[in-house]
Amino acid sequence: MDCVFCRIIQGELPAKKIYESERVIAFEDIQKAAPVHVLIVPKQHIESILQLPDDDTQLLAELQKAIREVAALTGVAESGFRLVSNKGKAAGQTVFHLHFHILGGRDLELTLA
Ligand code: C5P
Repeated sequence: MDCVFCRIIQGELPAKKIYESERVIAFEDIQKAAPVHVLIVPKQHIESILQLPDDDTQLLAELQKAIREVAALTGVAESGFRLVSNKGKAAGQTVFHLHFHILGGRDLELTLA
């Protein structure tokens, strides 16, 4: 399978790593849409939020911890940030490996779509 995020996780493609745990990695988005734009990605290939197993409590906890740590490390924990996960082409998903965008560092528009 040719997945760009699997290639980043395997070290075959470069990325600016912000945070890493056993099963989760976070790196800067290559095309930043805001001063802070980080992607939080499970190392395991999971296509979207709908394939994230709800009984994998370790992974769910690691994802939650990664959100908290990245928010603190990038300075947006206090100033505020938006957390986004696109599911499907119509929603704008272009990489079919689950990821959460953390966007912040400036005032964001109020629109969600
Ligand atoms: O939600 P969506 O699937 O569109 O997000 C994919 C994101 O992955 C994009 O914001 C794109 O800039 C980013 N990307 C990246 N590094 C790559 C390929 C894509 O940061 N090598």
